Amino acid sequence: RAIVRDIDMLEEQNPSISLPDPSTLEVDPTMFEKRYLKKVRDLGEGHFGKVELCRYDPRGDRTGELVAVKSLKPENSEEQSSNLWCEVGILKELYHENIVKYKGICNEEGGSSIKLIMEYLPMGSLKDYLPRNKVNTSLKTLLKYAVQICQGMDYLGSRNYIHRDLAARNVLVENESTVKIGDFGLTKSIKENEGYYTVKDDLDSPVFWYAPECLVHGKFYRASDVWSFGVTMYELLTYCDTTRSPMTEFLKIIGPTHGQMTVTRLVKVLEDGRRLPQPEGCPDVVYAHMGKCWVNTPNDRIDFKGLISVFQQMLA
Ligand code: ADP
Ligand code: MG
Repeated sequence: RAIVRDIDMLEEQNPSISLPDPSTLEVDPTMFEKRYLKKVRDLGEGHFGKVELCRYDPRGDRTGELVAVKSLKPENSEEQSSNLWCEVGILKELYHENIVKYKGICNEEGGSSIKLIMEYLPMGSLKDYLPRNKVNTSLKTLLKYAVQICQGMDYLGSRNYIHRDLAARNVLVENESTVKIGDFGLTKSIKENEGYYTVKDDLDSPVFWYAPECLVHGKFYRASDVWSFGVTMYELLTYCDTTRSPMTEFLKIIGPTHGQMTVTRLVKVLEDGRRLPQPEGCPDVVYAHMGKCWVNTPNDRIDFKGLISVFQQMLA
């Protein structure tokens, strides 16, 4: 009591002393302190970001949990930093079994830059996993992955987001039978009345996964994600064989060295109706559904719900 009274007096005499509010003394479990984050190894990198495996070990006895930590590559500028902030804001609000779980953030340099902390999936991306596990991954398993990716994407669409970077490199493997969408760096919110998102200057675009309307007008619809899903499906069926990658195959069609002209040539061949080839061992009915993702007019494409029911029927 006496101490409380003394403190009250102290506060009155010196208002700059602010006492901790007991309710905030509880630690925020989504705030990770940099000093306790110990790097174990690199997990991978993409255009803007790099992801490291870290142990968050406040007790310093290596009993802390393993987490995946995404930060911007040092060469990336301030404008990209807002990208990571956006990614945090989006991922934080997403709750789905086929979307990687957000854990929190770590503030650096007085809050100007941040790291995104998410659950660690030891098996890595489909691009790492499939080439190594070809023999024990059946067509049935690939179709299960396809359903799960579609379910994650359908959920994302229901929250009015367009992913814009759906590809095998951005799908993570939780275990032999479960995958999760794991990179929301290019995800954008769409205004309900417009139904699409316009890109201004996106030089880093994954062009070989993009639908014609994205390449020509820089417009992204939910249906543009469906196109990219078709390309991702193609990657699944080729077990992410790099000698058969979407880029390799498209460059074969358009010829390899067009520099700036590559996108123009790509648009031309797509408009002429050329498509990625049917992967070896891919059933006709599966390839036919990739084709339904690759219809020129966005409105005429199949949607994620349609794909889910078709693949589930094939699995039944
Ligand atoms: P970028 O935005 O730079 O493309 P990603 O989020 O796609 O970064 O991550 C890059 C790579 O890091 C992925 O392709 C994957 O191999 C690896 N990775 C990312 N997140 C995780 C995770 N949570 N667990 C395990 N590996 C991951
Ligand atoms: Mg990525």
